Amino acid sequence: MTQRTAGIHHITAFVRSAQDNVDFYAGVLGLRLVKKTVNFDAPEVYHLYFGNEGGSPGTAITFFPFEHGRKGLIGGGQVGWSTFAVPAGALPFWEERLTKLGIAYELKTRFGETFLRFRDRDELQLELVEREQGEPSKWAFGGVPADKAIKGIGGAVLYSLAPSETMKTLEGLLGFERVGTEDGLVRYRSYGDLGNIVEVREEAVEAGHGGAGTVHHIAWRAKNDEDHRVWRERAIVHGLQPTPFTDRQYFNAIYFREAGGILFEIATDPPGFARDEPAEALGERLMLPEWFEPKRAEIERGLPPIEVRVLDADRA
Ligand code: ZN
Repeated sequence: MTQRTAGIHHITAFVRSAQDNVDFYAGVLGLRLVKKTVNFDAPEVYHLYFGNEGGSPGTAITFFPFEHGRKGLIGGGQVGWSTFAVPAGALPFWEERLTKLGIAYELKTRFGETFLRFRDRDELQLELVEREQGEPSKWAFGGVPADKAIKGIGGAVLYSLAPSETMKTLEGLLGFERVGTEDGLVRYRSYGDLGNIVEVREEAVEAGHGGAGTVHHIAWRAKNDEDHRVWRERAIVHGLQPTPFTDRQYFNAIYFREAGGILFEIATDPPGFARDEPAEALGERLMLPEWFEPKRAEIERGLPPIEVRVLDADRA
């Protein structure tokens, strides 16, 4: 049987202020901060993970807040739009919420679905779409009740420098199935119930550059380490150059840049975010992998304090 990914595991982006990032993704969007750790390749910077109550695979969006980072340019070789799934009937709630919070948005329809498009504080491009599929989130925070809450990642719109190559990787390696084309977007689907709809701009997009407000990479789900090993071999056969297996504490990862310029990761579903702290206390303490523990005091001194807090507008 052909190996297929269930869909998106997580999406990771660059932003500037860590507190702004928490205020937007927890405060405005009502996601749970499920892990507060550091960028393992640059421990002077946080790595903040947001998701549903447990940060299940397919629900996580993660950030590297470089406080003085330069602004990026969204363009080819990146994820153009990151899409969150909300429950059926929840979009009017979100329109009202964004209006109340002074966040500009627009409504766009494609493939028979309405997308609520807006930007975060670093102008990262986001959209919300109603989906029947996907477990409802059990997390409620501030002004967002659980029955309206984001369930997880709905999908992504990929901006490729070489769309036909990107599509070959989606179909031939990752096992996505082509659904159709509309408005210059080719839609693909996989079998997961979250993170399973991916669209590719049919025309090549002029190259962007990394920096605040852009996506760094998109990760696809592997079932376990054995499945991961097969993915790595298949990526090589597919002509890609995956990194060695990398321990990211909450999953194992391999990375490769696909031919359309987008950095892809394949990440294992296990062990997940409850690996190093209790499920009920996720995201509360700064968690470090054991190799950074000896430097904890120094690392903590270099990080700005952050707080998950209810927005003033939601207190009234
Ligand atoms: Zn990642």
